[in-house]
Amino acid sequence: MQKIGVITSGGDAPGMNAAVRAVVRAALGRGCEVVGFIHGYQGIIDNEFLPLDSRAVGGIITTGGTMLRTARSKPFMTAEGRSKAIENLKKLGVDGLVVIGGDGSLTGALRLHEEFDFPVMGVPGSIDNDISGTDFSIGFDTAVNTAVEAIDRVRDTAYSHERVFVIEVMGRRNGFIAVEAGLATGAEAVLIPEIPYSLLEICDSLRVAAERGKRSSIIVVAEGAARASDIQEFITKNTPYEARYLVLGHMQRGGSPTAFDRVLALRLGAHAANRLLSGFRGEMVGVDGNHLVSHPLSYVLSSERVIDPEKLLLCEVMAR
Ligand code: ADP
Repeated sequence: MQKIGVITSGGDAPGMNAAVRAVVRAALGRGCEVVGFIHGYQGIIDNEFLPLDSRAVGGIITTGGTMLRTARSKPFMTAEGRSKAIENLKKLGVDGLVVIGGDGSLTGALRLHEEFDFPVMGVPGSIDNDISGTDFSIGFDTAVNTAVEAIDRVRDTAYSHERVFVIEVMGRRNGFIAVEAGLATGAEAVLIPEIPYSLLEICDSLRVAAERGKRSSIIVVAEGAARASDIQEFITKNTPYEARYLVLGHMQRGGSPTAFDRVLALRLGAHAANRLLSGFRGEMVGVDGNHLVSHPLSYVLSSERVIDPEKLLLCEVMAR
């Protein structure tokens, strides 16, 4: 391959820049040029790109967000849009594409692979960590650490005022961030979309905890499980506690990536470029334990990543 393209697409995640840098430098090291398309798939359709040399990706390892910007492209969801994208890639002499993004973006990559036999390689980038075929996706560790820092601060004021705080973290379809952040901050309850819960039982356990001398509590709730404001209202009505709530929101997406996410992104980005340049295609790279792996996109996208039951049990046991 003489020239490959790289995009960041869908939800942004801290560490995407480190991944772009790795793709570029690994490819350049093998004598292959790289172009970066702006705004994900939309940039391919609109011919919006920039040539990426080593200097173009200097100094971005520390930065959050994505220098290539990202977007949700409706035209790319149509057959015409994808044909246009392939036409543009071919005109530019781009022989392969690295797609850094979540399951939607990886589905787009699979379409290019299956419909046009175009060489693609996926890199999991998502703060939600809900992508199969890898233990970690880029951005999750940073998002969890951001949530933990915020919850620790809230814990101080919850303790001082003897209050219950309900803290809503990201996770529309799953509770990976909630479980990790809840465990790391010693939350008294963690509510996630995957597991049914009873608010009355939670109120009972808060009362029992108060009888045991616990005067403040933290409840971490994934956005897909409930709204923090509703839970706060319920607790205030049904317990002697004065409850407050906080929605962490988009702050969990931003910020400088942790060392873990930077190294993960570098390893995955370089692995993706190397696999593509070695003739592999239609795959997503990932980590299994500490080992780099690669799986067919069709497998990754047809399987579901579930929360480790041992961690769920630990949440319960530690909340006593
Ligand atoms: P994420 O990659 O974070 O999951 P989205 O689900 O919004 O984010 O997907 C990002 C983009 O990937 C979409 O805007 C679209 O351009 C492309 N995409 C998503 N799903 C498909 C699909 N089924 N077919 C083709 N392209 C898709």
